[in-house]
Amino acid sequence: GGLVIAIDGPSGSGKSSTAKGVARARELSYLDTGAMYRAITWWMLDNGIDVADAAAVAEAAARPVITVGTDPSAPTIEVDGADVAGAIRADGVTGSVSAVSAVPEVRELLVARQREIIAEACATTAGIVVEGRDITTVVAPDAPVKLFLTASAEARAQRRSREVRSSDVAATQEALARRDRLDSSRSVSPLTRTDDATELDTTGLSLDEVVALVVKLADE
Ligand code: C5P
Repeated sequence: GGLVIAIDGPSGSGKSSTAKGVARARELSYLDTGAMYRAITWWMLDNGIDVADAAAVAEAAARPVITVGTDPSAPTIEVDGADVAGAIRADGVTGSVSAVSAVPEVRELLVARQREIIAEACATTAGIVVEGRDITTVVAPDAPVKLFLTASAEARAQRRSREVRSSDVAATQEALARRDRLDSSRSVSPLTRTDDATELDTTGLSLDEVVALVVKLADE
């Protein structure tokens, strides 16, 4: 089997950049599970499903076909064959994704799909770096390398503001805090650090430094 590197952490902790960098450095596949939750949320909004209605979300969850490309240099995400990479980063999706992700039927479907993608990557490539909120706990608890990334609230808000090209860091920090609260308090698969995941505080570290640290851990 291939190598599985599982990375969890709150928004803005540097998960995506780190995971992509490590995957490129070690020639592994890459899976952004957040993009899958965003894609299903985008489809719910696009189809007029009330995301506050958990029963309606559960009932519709199996309808969209979500396809993910796992090349770390060119990751792709499609819903029913349409490229949604840009659309899933819109504020409307970001504001609704925690509600959709809290629905057990949504998680069941996506976790099953994620495990298939991991198995496929292990069969066809050297392995995969998987990032999200429940990778170390639920999706791949047996991964040989498990990491929990953190960073100060200020550092996370600054990074996220740069990503979305917003100058309002305070508003970004508030939105991040809200999403983390929802993601950490939901009853199914909340964001939590397990004892066997290595905690890495990325505050004040450059991306290259974090990637080097993770690659070193994976080599041990
Ligand atoms: O990583 P990103 O910020 O794009 O994730 C978007 C949202 O998807 C998170 O706020 C969370 O609600 C949900 N998510 C999840 N489980 C994962 C990955 C993401 O619930 N493994």
